[in-house]
Amino acid sequence: MNEIAEIVKEIKNLLEFQAVLGAKNYPKELLTLMPRGKRPLAEQAAERADCRLCGLHESRNKVVFGAGDPNANLLIVGEAPGAEEDRMGIPFIGRAGGLLTKILASINFTRDEVYIANVLKCRPPGNRDPQPAEVEACEPFLKEQIETIQPKLICALGAHAARTLLKLGSSTSIGSLRGALHNYHGVPLIATYHPAYLLRSPGKKRDTWEDVQFLRREYDRIMSGDAK
Ligand code: SF4
Repeated sequence: MNEIAEIVKEIKNLLEFQAVLGAKNYPKELLTLMPRGKRPLAEQAAERADCRLCGLHESRNKVVFGAGDPNANLLIVGEAPGAEEDRMGIPFIGRAGGLLTKILASINFTRDEVYIANVLKCRPPGNRDPQPAEVEACEPFLKEQIETIQPKLICALGAHAARTLLKLGSSTSIGSLRGALHNYHGVPLIATYHPAYLLRSPGKKRDTWEDVQFLRREYDRIMSGDAK
């Protein structure tokens, strides 16, 4: 590693150390500007385990970093952990998680062969919507995960995940994003409803079925090398 890269790495380590110590007045925005190497996911997860970059650290039980195959070709991105996930430290294991597992099985994926993560790694109290400052603080962690995993296809579950990844405004509905291939820094992205929403609105399951059939077709096309 050259000298400049060493210096940058040292500064980044110092900033992250300050964050872990709970410092409030460190230049937080610099962290997002630092070049990120492809560090192992386990190392990233260990580093986030005591994260206090946003206020959610006060109410969480566990940071929910992500789970699945670190070399997965399909990455699933949700919004934030729920109560069960917060308790166990594993994404999508509550009722919505059970539904996600069934949805994946319906298109012949197991949880083990995909990677599952959320935009926020800590649970918002009462499962409220993520706040912009929380997304801003946490999104770099998801970015680094994606850079490491290098998925061939991303599936965004729900409007919050899709808007965050695609940099869309708060008025963009998930309905307007369905049925199309979007672009996340060169990686194709498909958006559909969040399983938690499906539990409240079972009438949307048919739309979701169509979305995941589309996802499976695109996945197979991409993996066959016919990704024009
Ligand atoms: S939500 Fe993200 S930024 Fe906020 S404390 Fe948890 S890991 Fe850190």
